[in-house]
Amino acid sequence: MPRRPRRAPPGRIEVLRIGHRAGRDPRLTTHLALAARAFGAERLYLHPPDPALADRLARVAQQWGGGFSVEGVRDWRSVLREHPGPVVHLTMYGEPLARVLPRLRRADRLLFVVGGAKVPSDLYARATYNVAVGHQPHSEVAALAVALALLRGLPAPGAWPGARQVIVPEAHGKRVVEAEASE
Ligand code: SAM
Repeated sequence: MPRRPRRAPPGRIEVLRIGHRAGRDPRLTTHLALAARAFGAERLYLHPPDPALADRLARVAQQWGGGFSVEGVRDWRSVLREHPGPVVHLTMYGEPLARVLPRLRRADRLLFVVGGAKVPSDLYARATYNVAVGHQPHSEVAALAVALALLRGLPAPGAWPGARQVIVPEAHGKRVVEAEASE
């Protein structure tokens, strides 16, 4: 039986990325999706949709396991309206993460929202919490990774469900084996 990744509460975490510019910043949004997946989110809503990026992430999930998916959305406000839990907008102007963290840990479902070059101003009012990961400008990838790591903890080594391959941690060098061979 493949081992399940360890899951600290909350039960389900999703991410909404607003203002993706397909063709202009594919690497940045790909890194955001990879970080979301690696640090324990279940899904990335991508506004506007980018099928090529969703395909890239599906191939990563085939190889490395887990149930992460990318879903393109045309109307990001409806994702907020329909989300059955707190909406956490990551912004350097918000409340300190340490202050909000205990409330986030009690939630069953969380939706993190990150912006791109420009963030629509109504997002600040629509969010349940506007949360800063430090009060200096940095990046959506860094903000999300830090927030997820503090909520979920760092993922332990080992194969994720459905993985074809798994990394065997080494002090020096690179070792990747078939997932079944690691059990
Ligand atoms: N100038 C943009 C604005 O209107 O806020 C910020 C652009 S920043 C490059 C892109 C995204 O990174 C932001 O929308 C936010 O989600 C995230 N971000 C950057 N610094 C952050 C911080 N200190 N705390 C939380 N999120 C941050």
